[in-house]
Amino acid sequence: MNQIDVYKTYSEYLKNQFGEKVYKLPISLPLTCPNRDGCVGTGGCTFCGEEGGSFENLSNQLSVKEQISKNMDYIKKRYKAKKFIAYFQNFSNTYLPLEKFKEYVRDAILEDIVGISVSTRPDCINDNYLLFLKEIQEKYDIEITIELGLQTVNYHSLEKINRGHSLAEFIDAVLRIKRFNLRVCTHLILNLPWDHMIDVIENAKVLSALDVDEIKLHSLYIVEGTVLAEEYKNDEITMISKDEYIERVITFLEYINPEIVIQRIIGRAPEENTLFVNWQESWWKIRDEIVSQMEQRKTYQGIKCDYLNGKALKNLNI
Ligand code: SF4
Repeated sequence: MNQIDVYKTYSEYLKNQFGEKVYKLPISLPLTCPNRDGCVGTGGCTFCGEEGGSFENLSNQLSVKEQISKNMDYIKKRYKAKKFIAYFQNFSNTYLPLEKFKEYVRDAILEDIVGISVSTRPDCINDNYLLFLKEIQEKYDIEITIELGLQTVNYHSLEKINRGHSLAEFIDAVLRIKRFNLRVCTHLILNLPWDHMIDVIENAKVLSALDVDEIKLHSLYIVEGTVLAEEYKNDEITMISKDEYIERVITFLEYINPEIVIQRIIGRAPEENTLFVNWQESWWKIRDEIVSQMEQRKTYQGIKCDYLNGKALKNLNI
């Protein structure tokens, strides 16, 4: 048995969808985030470092086409890759005037690009942007995915990490994205210090009920210079153990709808300037441990997803 059997992996989804392996090419735009510049908040999320959610990108001084070409050439040579997804990754990529946003997206429609992913906040997308993306999807036959940072459905924790939005904005964004027939991916952090197992289960239930298409699970890492780093140094927060993180991921996967694609089950982070990351272990070792424990326990994604569509009526044969 391998990891494909215990959860629905992104790589397998891409292979089925596009007939071969597909690689994501990160793009960095010169922009900021409404939770930093005072629009909805200041200071940003308490865990967010200077890079705005990414640390592996090329300089945003390069054009979209230059960034795509550089990364594409490298990956084509190294892996003999043929198909790619242009991934607008850092900060809130829809926090731009609509015309500017359209220009950047159009610049990414290049040969061998089969998909475009746009990462943003739930309160930073509206019908005008979605209509444009839907038209692009249909005209160029390019699969478009909006990646929404949620982190947790626990709106008390959202307040603690200064997200600047609550659960309602996320629900609104998902319903809108789906109305325009675009894919939606949700980012969650399963080890926020204020969350418990009950929140992890609720995360899975809410995302299953909303029928999101993809999920990325992250482990919280603490970067020097952030509010979270200060809280950590002052012993105001306690990080859960690696074993507890593994339990949370397994439980989340058990409750989530088996049809939802799981992009990742643990995050990666820069080691430089980082006070806490993945219990000082390689991310892939923890991923392998989760898979191996699921195999041993004979459990898998969706085994406990029995709560939708009127659970109370199930025994009445109605
Ligand atoms: S919404 Fe994203 S980019 Fe903005 S502060 Fe939070 S994590 Fe950083």
